[in-house]
Amino acid sequence: MKITIVVDNEAENNLKKEWGFACLVENNEKVLFDTGASKEVLAYNAEKLGVKPESISKLVISHDHWDHTGGLGWALQNRKLKVYILEAFSPQLKQKLSGFEVIEVRELTEISKGIYSSGPIESADKYKLYEQALLLKTANGIVVVTGCAHPGLERIIEKAKQLGKVRAVIGGFHGFDKLEALCGIELIVPCHCTVRKKELAKAFPDKTLICKAGLTLEF
Ligand SMILES: [Zn+2]
Ligand SMILES: [Zn+2]
Repeated sequence: MKITIVVDNEAENNLKKEWGFACLVENNEKVLFDTGASKEVLAYNAEKLGVKPESISKLVISHDHWDHTGGLGWALQNRKLKVYILEAFSPQLKQKLSGFEVIEVRELTEISKGIYSSGPIESADKYKLYEQALLLKTANGIVVVTGCAHPGLERIIEKAKQLGKVRAVIGGFHGFDKLEALCGIELIVPCHCTVRKKELAKAFPDKTLICKAGLTLEF
């Protein structure tokens, strides 16, 4: 299982950065998770990384925010793309997907070999925002990939435990501050909107990696 960060707030020198998130998961097929904030940056970085829209079989959208859906047009160049969304997403977003095979994920679901959607997790705040995370089943445990983790990373980790021991967490962690939820996790990669990047690196210096577009991880 290979993960490549395609769009992030930080980037390696040859890639562009922007406030947004997209990453590619490869196992039996290529699954794109989120699309960053703009078609431009996604297209630029994907090209540099040698990824073509036609090579992607499935797209999973974590939640309906512009910094995760802005590059949708790049992915939709592949007319055969299957798109995994949540029922709660806006009519405007659903409209953009008309003509495509769209799957509204309702519960923990395997969408490709070893690649699961957590199903909708609702945020506990007044916004009642629904988000799905990717849960990857690897030989040594579950790798959690989050978009913004608005429902709380600790709640997403709880959900992931239904599949097995959580080994790594990667993605936007937003305002996450319940650091004790990360005890026992081997690898922490705070990306995108994570507010406490420095605090995490300080609390877990041996297992925190800096996230940026261009980073690849193999599990
Ligand atoms: Zn968000
Ligand atoms: Zn975001």
